[in-house]
Order: sequence, then structure tokens, then C-alpha cells
Amino acid sequence: MTTDMNDSNLYDVVIIGGGPAGATAALYTARAGLKTLVLDKGLTAGALGITGKIANYPGLTEPISGAELLERMRSQAKSFGAQFVTDKVIGVVLNEEEKMVFGNQGTYYSQAVIVATGSLGRGTRIKGEEELLGKGVSYCATCDAAFFKDQDVMVAGSSDEAIDEALYLTRFASRVHFLCPREDLKAPQELIDELLANPKVDLHCNTTLLEIIGTEQVEAVRFQPKGQTEETLPIKGAFVYLQGGRPITDFLQDQLELNEGGCVVVDKEFQTAIPGVYAVGDVLCNHVKQVVIAAGEGAVAGMALEKALRGRRKIVVDWAK
Ligand SMILES: Cc1cc2nc3c(=O)[nH]c(=O)nc-3n(C[C@H](O)[C@H](O)[C@H](O)COP(=O)(O)OP(=O)(O)OC[C@H]3O[C@@H](n4cnc5c(N)ncnc54)[C@H](O)[C@@H]3O)c2cc1C
Repeated sequence: MTTDMNDSNLYDVVIIGGGPAGATAALYTARAGLKTLVLDKGLTAGALGITGKIANYPGLTEPISGAELLERMRSQAKSFGAQFVTDKVIGVVLNEEEKMVFGNQGTYYSQAVIVATGSLGRGTRIKGEEELLGKGVSYCATCDAAFFKDQDVMVAGSSDEAIDEALYLTRFASRVHFLCPREDLKAPQELIDELLANPKVDLHCNTTLLEIIGTEQVEAVRFQPKGQTEETLPIKGAFVYLQGGRPITDFLQDQLELNEGGCVVVDKEFQTAIPGVYAVGDVLCNHVKQVVIAAGEGAVAGMALEKALRGRRKIVVDWAK
């Protein structure tokens, strides 16, 4: 197979998800001298990123926002050389010596992979969403925005991922209706300001998306602002970035064993059945969902992975003698 693998996209370890689990794993692997890349789809697209105030993480003498704690964790990992790239992972090849991770922005190669995508995945879909997937329903504006030149589209979500995608869509679409399920948006203020200042964006907050309507193609969305009557908006594209409560594993495409709860199965050191592939944090079951636990698991996996990689390297050097 021919690949575009080169020094700039080849890493010792690629970590998918830069929440507390992934960022802490990165801190350990980067500090151990491993070339480390963290791919994350957005600061406020994960559980810690959306947490308003956090007070029970050790060392915090006063409450801070989850996003701020996460920024601190990421800065610390960066200070040891870890690279962070904003990209949504959509596929992987794990069963090869050189693992491949496919993002919307590019392909990344590595000897080891840590899955740390958390559990804000969606279990249930909006009415019409599945049937119209690829017929106007999309999860990737960077991939599909150009198909909606001079047309009206909808974005549903409240994270910085959703806002970024909406802003990207404004380059092509004539109008972007932003349906936010919460009272407010959960994202850095400058990003919210940019969204609000964009003349192509109509923000509808505190709304529930009820249905994506269409037969051959998306034709409209039906939604309900809280305490008001339902509305229907004619649109051609529906970009959905809502959050739920299931482990995010769709991009694994059955390459790792999952248990009944949809969580990745790992051993004591958080390694999966594939050597060199680990999973940590809320993407696992049977643990208390707390930041300190996710960070601790990231640390254990980072150390175990470093030992495994260095061990293998030593053997390779010995054989070459
Ligand atoms: C509202 C709320 C309040 C909470 N309050 C507290 C609290 O006070 N104290 C406490 O200790 N815990 C709290 N928790 C729990 C805690 O936030 C989680 O246990 C912890 O964040 C899990 O860390 P994680 O790294 O596994 O997942 P997350 O924090 O969810 O991080 C996962 C990361 O993966 C990224 N990601 C997901 N899919 C992809 C993809 N396909 N490609 C690229 N990146 C991807 C996301 O963008 C995200 O940054 C709270 C959780 C919630 C939801």
C-alpha cells in the first residue's frame, strides 16, 4: 500500500481525545521523550470542557471552569513537547505495526495509539437523521460545506466544535441557522463573539431539534423553542454536533472489543487486545467518572506504553547487531 507517511506525520504515539485522560497521557509520553500528537475535535466538545466549575480536582485552591483546567493540562503537556491538533478522528487502522489515524484534516501514523474520546457520544438520533445521512445530513462541515453554496443550512450543538463548523459554513451557505439546545453556548467567549457578529448566522437558543424533514434530500427542520410552539425552517443541509451519554467509539469501526455498555475493553494497564493500543478515561466502563480518575488512567497508560515501546526498540537494536 502506498502512503503519504513522512517525518512530519509519523509519531511514536497518537492520542485520540485531549480531555483530562488524553492530555495527561500526553504529558507522560511527551515527558518520556516520545513524539506525541493529540488530536481533539474541540476544547468544549468533551465532558471537562463543558463543566462550568470544578472544585474537586487536587491542587485547585478555588473553583475554576473545566475549560480552564483543561487548558492548563494541555499547556503542561505542550511544555514537554506534545503537539495538539484540532481535528475530528473519523477512522483508524489499528491492526498493523504502523497504525493509521484518519482525521478530517489529514492522516497520522504512529507506533501506538491511545483512545481517550470520553462518553459524550449520542445513543439516539433525531427523527429523519439516519435516513437523510449523506442526503443533506452531515457531521463534517469541512468535508461537505461546499455542497451548500448559496443555500440555507442548520447547525445543531453548543460546543466550540459546533461553532467552528458553523463559521466554516458561512463561507459557502447563504444563511446558517444555529440551533442550540441549551440556554447559552459553551465555548471560549471570542469564538461566541465571532459567531454572534457573523451576519449570516441566526442563533436560536434553548431549542429542541425534533425532526429533520425530507424524502430524497433534506428539505426542512422542525424544532421547538422552550415554552413556545413548534417551528419549521426550510433548509438544505443539517449539520449535527449534539452531545449524549455514550462512549465515543464510532471511529473504531469494530476494530476493538467493546462490552455491553459500548465501552472499550482493556487490561490492568489500559491496553486493549491489540498491542500498542490503549484506552483511558470515560470511554471505559466500570469506573467513577471523575477528572482525577481519567487523568490517573492517562498516566498509567502513558507509562505502560512508554515501557512497551522502549522495550521493543531495545530488542530491535539487539537484533541488528
Ligand atoms: C456536566 C459535567 C460536570 C462534571 N463535573 C465534574 C466535577 O465537578 N468533578 C469531576 O471530577 N468530574 C466531573 N465530571 C466528569 C468528568 O468531566 C469526566 O469524568 C472527565 O472529563 C472524563 O475525561 P475524558 O478525558 O475521558 O473525557 P472528556 O473530558 O469527555 O474528553 C474527551 C475528549 O475527546 C475529544 N473527542 C471525542 N471524540 C473525538 C473524535 N472523534 N476526534 C477527536 N477528538 C474527539 C473531545 O473533544 C474531548 O476533548 C463532570 C462531567 C460532566 C458532563
